[in-house]
Amino acid sequence: MSVAIRSHPRIVNRDTCIAGCTCDSDHPAPQVTLYSGVDASQVLAEDCRAIYGDRPVLLLFDPETYAVAGADLQQHLQAENVNLISHQFDSHPVASAALIETVRTLNKGVALIISVGSGTINDLGKYSSSEDQIDFWCLPTAPSMNGYTSGIAAIKVKGVKRTLPALPPQRIYVIPEVIQQAPLKLLQAGFCDVLAKVVSDIDWQCESLLFSGGYCGLPASMMTAVEKTYSEYPEEIGRGEGSAVMGLFHGLLLSGVAMSLAGSSAPASGGEHLVSHFWDMREPITGREPELHGLQVGVGIILSTACYKRLAQLDRDDLPRQADRLFSMTAERIPGIWGPYADEVAKQFHNKRAALLQFDTLLPQKWDKLQSLFRQVQSPDYFADLFARTGAPFNLEALQLSKDELMLAAINSRAIRERITVLDLAAHAGVLEAAAEDALQLLRS
Ligand SMILES: [Zn+2]
Ligand SMILES: [Zn+2]
Repeated sequence: MSVAIRSHPRIVNRDTCIAGCTCDSDHPAPQVTLYSGVDASQVLAEDCRAIYGDRPVLLLFDPETYAVAGADLQQHLQAENVNLISHQFDSHPVASAALIETVRTLNKGVALIISVGSGTINDLGKYSSSEDQIDFWCLPTAPSMNGYTSGIAAIKVKGVKRTLPALPPQRIYVIPEVIQQAPLKLLQAGFCDVLAKVVSDIDWQCESLLFSGGYCGLPASMMTAVEKTYSEYPEEIGRGEGSAVMGLFHGLLLSGVAMSLAGSSAPASGGEHLVSHFWDMREPITGREPELHGLQVGVGIILSTACYKRLAQLDRDDLPRQADRLFSMTAERIPGIWGPYADEVAKQFHNKRAALLQFDTLLPQKWDKLQSLFRQVQSPDYFADLFARTGAPFNLEALQLSKDELMLAAINSRAIRERITVLDLAAHAGVLEAAAEDALQLLRS
């Protein structure tokens, strides 16, 4: 007897969000669907049976995600007689090329991969399924980052974390109770990652005003519509209270979709993300194990907003003309900071040299318009307070970050990607070091 295949609602209604579009380009509709409920494991198992029948299905989890949701899902899949291959990673897996190989060996002939977990396990499933053109579903276990619905995966290749294209899952199944019971640190990380959009959107508008004109208001209007459901409830999120945590989780899912809709990671990844990438990439050099993505991004938000605050106070006549000299000085530091990875970093930085050299004329020319953007950003004090109100300390000690590594990232992370961000603006306006000191003061307490 054949069973009807159920479909679930898409995460966003394309027609509603397209209303926020301010550009003329086409925004392809995101296909990700969402089922949320206490019976999500049961529904997933039934859907899996109905769609894939006897074809093999690969289930991925680690001991922690097995305990909170994987074991229960596995039972439901077995009860539906799904042809199941289960794979448990070791605790705290890293999304490395080696583990991608493990998954790609296991997924031969498989019709579907299901990831049970958050950032890493999702990225492992997403990237390998995407590479081998296999269907992919996920059962998230924490509201810790916006990558569930994004079109990229963070994979460590030869010791360096890279952001690679990968198709988002077709279906997401959510058990609200599991999301609400996520550890405090993961909740705080997700809270920081979702708020990054507030600053990265201004980065994008500045870049668009100076160079590309490619800004579209669609992602911001999507996020503004839901922002109040999480941004005003840090304490409730920290305590795992239902509606606040689910507001946060929904915000994270939307922010990933907003990136796919915009066809760029610009709306959710500006200067505040660069410092996080900087520390991820520095791991083989410093031996410091990177903190959760969202928490490092939180530090980046403090830095970016400190830059905006300084920029907003700066007079046009005080803008230095130093683009050429500044580029050389920054480029000269790359070998000392990056050692064996210096060539790759230098290449990225050189890709934006032509744009940066125009800053001497463009910044004074557009200063009024830029300043009205700078003034829209809230202060670094506001964000530092907001993050700490989740109940977990938000400072250098809690993030296991040294003062030197913070300052190094603040001054030099703009060189690792070719995208123009607030860090470039602050450097060229001569306020980056002072802003980094401001951030340091806030993160010391
Ligand atoms: Zn648009
Ligand atoms: Zn992020």
